[in-house]
Amino acid sequence: MNKSIKVFAPGSVSNVGCGFDILGFAIDGIGDEMVLSKNDSNKLHIKPIEGYDNLPTEPSKNVAGVAIQALLDDLGSNQGFDIEIKKNIKPGSGIGSSSASAAGAVVAANELLGKPYSREELVNFAMQGEIAASGDAHADNAAPTVLGGFCIVRAYDPLDVIQIESPKDLWCVVIHPQIEIKTKEARKLLSPKVDLKKAIRQWGNVAGLISGLHKSDYNLIGRSLEDHIVEKQRKVLIPEFDNLKQAALEAGALGCSISGSGPSVFALCEGEDKAKAVSSAMNEVFSKTTIPYFIYTSQVSNKGVRILE
Ligand code: ADP
Repeated sequence: MNKSIKVFAPGSVSNVGCGFDILGFAIDGIGDEMVLSKNDSNKLHIKPIEGYDNLPTEPSKNVAGVAIQALLDDLGSNQGFDIEIKKNIKPGSGIGSSSASAAGAVVAANELLGKPYSREELVNFAMQGEIAASGDAHADNAAPTVLGGFCIVRAYDPLDVIQIESPKDLWCVVIHPQIEIKTKEARKLLSPKVDLKKAIRQWGNVAGLISGLHKSDYNLIGRSLEDHIVEKQRKVLIPEFDNLKQAALEAGALGCSISGSGPSVFALCEGEDKAKAVSSAMNEVFSKTTIPYFIYTSQVSNKGVRILE
């Protein structure tokens, strides 16, 4: 059995417009790289993190350590691991920075332990890692990062995740302004009450979006991507949100909304050409600001965490 393994853990978009807290998908354009090696110390050791050196390296505070510990506790193992993280996804980006580390860590550890768990079972452990990031064990980023494609988190008790393969021509553009919005803070903006009429439109959209994904009906996907509840409350945190959305839709995006709790904004598109046009339209809007930003354009990833070597 191998002593060491390298993995790529993709970024992810959660909420996906109408699917607040229950829906997410994996993106191929950006992700973290991680190397896990077995050690003989019976302890987890996180090396200084490449990319973002202000992240905690104490295993109980880093999502990678917490997620692996949850797996080891369930397995009844005291195997030690050295964990190297090359962080490409900025923390607090809204594109699943913490989930990428948690998911990459458990997939890699599971491989080195002889695969005692299925990918579906690993979602549970990756989700435990999220407690270290936001105080909550949520799976809307962790599930697509582990499994790939779109994931519906139907229920938590017990965890019930449904994976849907992404239609083959579905592309995603994500613009990531380099400001940090912590999930915890963005949650404080949300009203605990939902107007019944808005809720009815919202679950109509969720049903439409899921059907559109199953039937590869891009028009239906586009019609269903609207969020009547959360976007309005959170968009105040995101510079140029309305202009970005308008530019993306005018350039032919199927829909556009906040990725996770922001500041990233995503647009779904049919085909690469449309995605490139949307990317340049969003670029045009944001280039007028003084805020640094990145734009990623890629297919929705059906793979989730990939083993590199
Ligand atoms: P994101 O949606 O980008 O994951 P969150 O606000 O949910 O943003 O998570 C970021 C928080 O998680 C930060 O406070 C960060 O310190 C903490 N964290 C702990 N371990 C990691 C890790 N390995 N990668 C990223 N963030 C981590």
